[in-house]
Amino acid sequence: MVRLADLIPGELEYNEYNWLVSPYRHLGFLTRRRASTIVNRVRLLAFLFAVLTAMWSGVDLIVFPFNLWFNLALIRLVASAAFASLLLYSPNDGNLFGAYRAMAQLFAIPTIFFVASYLLLGHYRLTGLSAAISVGYAFLPFVLLAGLSIFPLTLVETMCFSAPILIAQIIAAVFRWTGMDWPSMAGEFWLLVLISGVSVLAGMSQLGFMIGLVRQAVRDALTGVFSRSGGEEVLELQFSIASRSGAKLAVAFLDLDHFKSINDQYGHEAGDTVLVNMARIVSRHLRRSDVLVRWGGEEFLVIMPDTSVMHAQAALVRLLKAGFGVTPRNTPVTASIGVAELTVDKASDWKSLLEIADQRMYRAKQNGRAQICGYDEKERVEQAELAMQ
Ligand code: GH3
Ligand code: MG
Ligand code: MG
Repeated sequence: MVRLADLIPGELEYNEYNWLVSPYRHLGFLTRRRASTIVNRVRLLAFLFAVLTAMWSGVDLIVFPFNLWFNLALIRLVASAAFASLLLYSPNDGNLFGAYRAMAQLFAIPTIFFVASYLLLGHYRLTGLSAAISVGYAFLPFVLLAGLSIFPLTLVETMCFSAPILIAQIIAAVFRWTGMDWPSMAGEFWLLVLISGVSVLAGMSQLGFMIGLVRQAVRDALTGVFSRSGGEEVLELQFSIASRSGAKLAVAFLDLDHFKSINDQYGHEAGDTVLVNMARIVSRHLRRSDVLVRWGGEEFLVIMPDTSVMHAQAALVRLLKAGFGVTPRNTPVTASIGVAELTVDKASDWKSLLEIADQRMYRAKQNGRAQICGYDEKERVEQAELAMQ
């Protein structure tokens, strides 16, 4: 029997299928990547349309009477300028609503152009080649719906964008009710619906691909916790949120002690197992809002939003007491930890906050390992004295 599950693209994990349906609960990374991809594609299309819309005037000039050409050329010029302004003024800041707005503008410009040229062409009786070219103007709804397929959108999003075009088509049909050739209109509508369906599938499959890529980029393959690049994004975001709202943000640097000797004694694979266990144990002890990052090798970072330095240190002491697992010979694995907090350490950016935590981790190593080095007033005073000398 053919297993239905095998037909679903293999790159997605079970909980990620919901993300194909609606943008609800998408990860922050995914939203930002998606928003910037959408804006980039809008810009690309805006550029192409700005150039092509203006250039097509040359074709109009050959086939249409001068009067009609002139009016069309004016409409084209306005449309071209609108596309050009979309190209210049759509910010790529990772904001999804900004991306929706850019897409809506990208679709609104040709729609208005379509209606204006449609009304204009209605006044003329065209024959031969000019009639053939004028038919091309009626292709716009098809082009718009097919154009949706290049965006990594969810099912609901593609439907929201295609609905106005389909509804406009119905309204146009109702207005031409008398004397209209309804079977061909219905056929046209049916084709539009089919194209929308294909666009929905294309958008979802692009999104699925993007979900897989984002996951690979933000997750560490060995331990399953955040990778360094994912962690950097989290930290950057949390830092800007905390510094804007004056909230606290603690970070801790963890480095396993004498990890090299675990590798040397038991082999690299045993070392890997120790890392996996350690990540699992630490994750279990953290709050839901805390983020564990494998910064590299046997160094980990814990990002603790809304956490004071006292609470962070208390949580890390609990962690230290719980231990970081054992070696194959059942000896405990230990770690040295350095903590820093945004408001008390007055870090100007996330990198310097990290730098402070890193320095304290080294101090914990120097002081004998298996301990925490955190913020304390005395150290502040010593540093200030050093700076004054
Ligand atoms: P210290 O207490 O001073 O931190 O000593 P250490 O031995 O932990 O530190 P050092 O930086 O000298 O060694 C880190 C070791 O971690 C060296 C490297 O081979 C090992 N390592 C880095 N990444 C991996 C990995 O993915 N798997 C395994 N098994 N070992 C790794
Ligand atoms: Mg180490
Ligand atoms: Mg190290």
